[in-house]
Amino acid sequence: MEHIVTRFPPSPTGSLHIGGARTALFNWLFTRNRGGRFILRIEDTDVERSTDESVKAIMDAMEWLELTWDEGPYFQTNRLDVYSEYAKKLVDSGNAYWCQCTPEELEMRRNAAMAEGRKPKYEGACRTKAFGPGPNRVLRFRAPDTGTTVLRDIIKGAIEFDNSELDDLVIVKSDGIPTYNFAVVVDDITMGVTHVIRGDDHVNNTPRQILIYQALGEKLPEFGHVPMIHGEDRSPLSKRHGATSVMEYKKMGFLPEALVNCLVRLGWSYGDQEIFSRSELIEKFTLENIGKSPSIFTMEKLLWLNAHYIKEKRPEELVSPLRPFLALRNYTDKSDAYLAGAIRTLQTRSHTLVEMADAMRFYMVDEVEFDPAAADEFLTPEIGKVFELIISELSNLETFDENSLETVFRKIVADLGIKFGKIAQPVRVALTGATKSPGLFEIIEVLGKKSVVERLQKGLKYTRER
Ligand code: GLU
Repeated sequence: MEHIVTRFPPSPTGSLHIGGARTALFNWLFTRNRGGRFILRIEDTDVERSTDESVKAIMDAMEWLELTWDEGPYFQTNRLDVYSEYAKKLVDSGNAYWCQCTPEELEMRRNAAMAEGRKPKYEGACRTKAFGPGPNRVLRFRAPDTGTTVLRDIIKGAIEFDNSELDDLVIVKSDGIPTYNFAVVVDDITMGVTHVIRGDDHVNNTPRQILIYQALGEKLPEFGHVPMIHGEDRSPLSKRHGATSVMEYKKMGFLPEALVNCLVRLGWSYGDQEIFSRSELIEKFTLENIGKSPSIFTMEKLLWLNAHYIKEKRPEELVSPLRPFLALRNYTDKSDAYLAGAIRTLQTRSHTLVEMADAMRFYMVDEVEFDPAAADEFLTPEIGKVFELIISELSNLETFDENSLETVFRKIVADLGIKFGKIAQPVRVALTGATKSPGLFEIIEVLGKKSVVERLQKGLKYTRER
């Protein structure tokens, strides 16, 4: 089997965003589909803006999405000697030279070019000076003046660039730190990367990178540039469209499965199928099925997917993801089994874990508060005698499951000669405080005899004291 090597190289200057997560996911899926290694590389050469917290935040988000890496994390700042070695190769072969033009000189020439209507670019003042390294000198790549460079992109097809448009790029700054286009090429070469899959905001960097590969006499990797993600207004996804960080979605009560499923469909498709298990994604993912136009992220779709995954899970599987949301509401002292029972009744009614945790309230508190309007309407003096009967029947009940409850309630309505509809809402208000809840027998079973009887007694008291 051919050996695929991919990489995800975030700059640790913030959290992992939707766009980055999608890039990581596409690389991960492609690698798992083809068999190979997926590398995590931290591009921390922007020392001022890179932070350890961002590194941790990015890795936490990848772990949450289960985008496991096979190698790394590598840190570019630990690899400065590797870049020096490659810089030397370029100098020795005449493909790079030291430049001591000052920022003021560059600025002056840029202004002059613009005044004359020429495109500003570095004009090669130091190309022939044969300077060695020294203070305030940068290393520039000697780009060809003529000809074209062609990017053969798996997703976008062939794109041709005029070399005359490309500057003599700075590849090592005066502080010895390599610039992105150089470091990325050295890393991808030395790490054996076979496929570079990234956002198409990097398309214009690619011809520069291709020229560096060629100058080093190295084989090019395959390139695939994935179109941008847009918001519903068809402008590039940004804060204006709502949360952009992956972990904010976790906080909003989304399951990682839903986010992964949503992310993969931002650009990739397989017929008109919308829902994919992870193993199905691994099996079906190909770069050829990535579209050429920007994709649109909508909250509505993510909510729909999340509701689907919440519904599909076994209740036991939702207990630990839900616990932090319950803890935030100070609902802490219930067993896993109790929570699983309650979750089961809410799975078809919740779009997010936040919604579910809110809806759990009546299961979690010792005493429910009655919604005043609901209590006023349904906890009437006449219902008091019905509650008395229910309390006595339920107190005698041995097995407290949906079936036996249904039998008891059928008997009660028959004895009283009333319709079930007449007693359902009052009982619901007594048990939950409100008029909307999962099925009555389901909640009675979860709450258990002791709590149900206590709540009905409180309801009964209300009917007498109102
Ligand atoms: N650090 C770059 C970024 O975050 C990596 C781009 C690449 O994949 O080459 O955009």
